[in-house]
Amino acid sequence: MIDPFGRTIDYLRVSVTDRCDFRCTYCMSENMTFLPRKELLSLEELDRLCSLFIEKGVRRLRLTGGEPLVRKNIMHLIGQLSRHLQTGALDELTLTTNGSQLSRYAAELADLGVKRINVSLDTLDPDKFRAITRWGDFSRVMAGIDAAQEAGIKVKLNAVALKNFNDLEIPQMIRWAHGRGMDITLIETMPMGEIELDRTDQYLPLSLLRTQLQREFSLEEIAYKTGGPARYVKVAETGGRIGFITPMTHNFCESCNRVRLTCTGTLYMCLGQEDAADLRAPLRASEGNELLSEAIDRAIGRKPKGHDFIIDRRHNRPAVSRHMSVTGG
Ligand code: SAM
Ligand code: SF4
Repeated sequence: MIDPFGRTIDYLRVSVTDRCDFRCTYCMSENMTFLPRKELLSLEELDRLCSLFIEKGVRRLRLTGGEPLVRKNIMHLIGQLSRHLQTGALDELTLTTNGSQLSRYAAELADLGVKRINVSLDTLDPDKFRAITRWGDFSRVMAGIDAAQEAGIKVKLNAVALKNFNDLEIPQMIRWAHGRGMDITLIETMPMGEIELDRTDQYLPLSLLRTQLQREFSLEEIAYKTGGPARYVKVAETGGRIGFITPMTHNFCESCNRVRLTCTGTLYMCLGQEDAADLRAPLRASEGNELLSEAIDRAIGRKPKGHDFIIDRRHNRPAVSRHMSVTGG
């Protein structure tokens, strides 16, 4: 699959549910209205869609959400999808998770061929953790990270950089992550969906944070890539890596290799644009994949060049109305 700008699309992110057992303040409002269950694709339908994408050239698949591990019978879907790892059609099956269910599932995930996962963690302070996630239990996430590492899964931490929340703590988080053999990626907040808070109060440009970090660490630019938009540096003092995901201060769209599928079968060609393609109707219209394949080709044919995110006092509305939990980040 090649888009109008010559970019090869070989990475699919699938939001398997919009629900979550946390309510991170930058991601969701406290009282979210979730999709009625009847709107969701079944696990069999998700498998059929993902398998067609793999047939059409997707080499890497990431399950996300909402919280992917709270979808009922999610391990069944992961088990089904893992057959593509065995045949070699898929290079990688991975997930982004808040870690709350990992102690339960880590061993099974490892058995099914999941080699790397991203765990989102914005603070190491249990009280602050409760404040930012509203509902999360820090000790469960720690137990989840332990379980994943014990199962031999490589864990990368994702931390959203938040002004006056974790900016001063980030050096400590870097030391902690690197001490446990984990890379850490820092992410700028993106203006997606209505939340209670003012995003200008949360937004911390990573260019600023990087300057702060340079006072404490020697950062060396490296070519390391994991297939995503993060640009990595190596920290001389710890030997570990820090990734910077900077949608706001540095537009990373030119190397975009991905599309995003929601749990209702809507395909978003860009995280930061409203345009989407409905794949549920062609999926359900026939048992064969021809209609579906054509709908995917049409969608890829109109993948936009990039997003138009801006956060400042004049642009204080979400750039897109949907929350990150819909398209999965
Ligand atoms: N629940 C899982 C988790 O938290 O890892 C997966 C879904 S979550 C939407 C994926 C990632 O998006 C998380 O790392 C989260 O911190 C990030 N995220 C959520 N809302 C965001 C926003 N408005 N801007 C930037 N990152 C955001
Ligand atoms: Fe849930 Fe992840 Fe959003 Fe937090 S960031 S509310 S864990 S979906």
